[in-house]
Amino acid sequence: MKKHIVKDILNYILTENDIIKPDLINASNYKDANEVINYLKKGGKISTVSSERQCEYCGELAGSINYYTDGTWVWPEWLSHYVIKHQIKLPFDFVEQIINNNYDGELVQKIVNQELEIQFYEE
Ligand SMILES: [Zn+2]
Repeated sequence: MKKHIVKDILNYILTENDIIKPDLINASNYKDANEVINYLKKGGKISTVSSERQCEYCGELAGSINYYTDGTWVWPEWLSHYVIKHQIKLPFDFVEQIINNNYDGELVQKIVNQELEIQFYEE
């Protein structure tokens, strides 16, 4: 099986204690949260779990911990909550990817169909 390398957004937004880095909150580096949300929704789902994350900032259920990918990045479903409610700052190259709409449907389908094994990018 071929390996495909992706970047895990959690490496950029979580502290060692599994909370969102406080300095990312209310610091969005994109103009339109809806554009980000629409992009996140397009991602291919690559895991199926039932557990959910509760938001450490407002106490609401932020969403499932299922992972989605666009072929370059992987992110959990709950990321949308932090975009809408907390204007989370995202990695610059991820925002660029969204603005340029670099969604590779063909590649994502291969990952979802498990024709490609994903490997996480190590910094
Ligand atoms: Zn919240």
